[in-house]
Amino acid sequence: MQNKTILPGATIGILGGGQLGRMLALAAKPMGYRIAILDPSPTCPAVSVADVVVTGDFGDVAALAEFAQACDVVTLEFENVPAAGLAFLEALLPVRPSKRVLETLRDRIVEKAFINAAGIETAPWAEVRFAGDFERVLKLGFPAILKTATLGYDGHGQARVNSLEELSEAFARFNAPCVLEGLVDFACEVSVIVARSSSGEVKVFDVLENHHVGGILDTTFIPAGVPLELQRQAQEIALKLAARLEIIGLVCVEFFVTQGGRVIVNELAPRPHNSGHLTIEACVTSQFEQAIRAVCGLPLGETTAHGPAAMANLLGDLWQVSQPNWAAALETGAKLHLYGKLEARSGRKMGHLTALGEDALEVVKAARAALKT
Ligand code: AMP
Repeated sequence: MQNKTILPGATIGILGGGQLGRMLALAAKPMGYRIAILDPSPTCPAVSVADVVVTGDFGDVAALAEFAQACDVVTLEFENVPAAGLAFLEALLPVRPSKRVLETLRDRIVEKAFINAAGIETAPWAEVRFAGDFERVLKLGFPAILKTATLGYDGHGQARVNSLEELSEAFARFNAPCVLEGLVDFACEVSVIVARSSSGEVKVFDVLENHHVGGILDTTFIPAGVPLELQRQAQEIALKLAARLEIIGLVCVEFFVTQGGRVIVNELAPRPHNSGHLTIEACVTSQFEQAIRAVCGLPLGETTAHGPAAMANLLGDLWQVSQPNWAAALETGAKLHLYGKLEARSGRKMGHLTALGEDALEVVKAARAALKT
């Protein structure tokens, strides 16, 4: 079942109808695919572009059965689908990436052990399951970052800790298995997106340089301002991890580049990634189209970038005073993407801006500033 090519006209199911599911659907439609979405919310961003919408939890067997009935293949925008739900779907049709890959990557403890077993460096880390584990993890020293092993995103489920007291307080607050990570004094952060198709074909995108604010991605640009040798190393590591995972679909590998010029893996995401949004305008094939080609077993597209490009995220905070000034932002030449979310909460990703050209980063920043005018 895993190697069947899924041809245009078939229905691609997407687990999760947020912005990533919506942009996957938008890439699949011109190629002639139909889209089915499973999401707990009937007003999720992908609803307006899907052919079939099933509203239900990812563990709801009736909803999963209805969804499976509509689909020829299943992919996802959300890696935290319960194992039982994935097993249910895998018994009926191809699920790409597979349950095995998702189980490796959705728990930071399993994920880091997998990366290190491949001979690849991560930040120093130790698992924390009980308060009694503190003595053992103290060798990492402070400051350190405590992260919940599962379900963290955009800085949620993370706390920077400077002492045993802060570690103990954060662990009690999370009340879940965690990893404690040594703080990496990084010069910058980069990510690499790799696609691997069901035929085993592999393609890698250019290295993306990422800037976070408050644990949330703020801007991404290419070309990354990192020596070419380090960029090549990051791409090689990402390709090695994709091959060892035997993933079908996309994997995004996030890295720290240290002051001393080492690339260290932070984490992996088995799906399209926020840092790859600029590929829609900047590359011959976007990360979303590439994901569709990979899960359908079609030839992968060229990943070449047309030139420098940048992306800036638009968070819900921009809506707090008044409706953002869209006209002023578009006058800068930036391209606007809005995800159709009904409620603009603080820190919520509502859309993004992209620009191309030598001054792309300045343009997206100016466009975002213009939204507040
Ligand atoms: P994560 O959710 O693990 O990707 O973390 C979100 C962001 O927090 C990262 O992109 C970094 O900016 C920062 N961060 C996470 N872990 C570390 C670390 N061990 N050392 C330094 N900064 C970190």
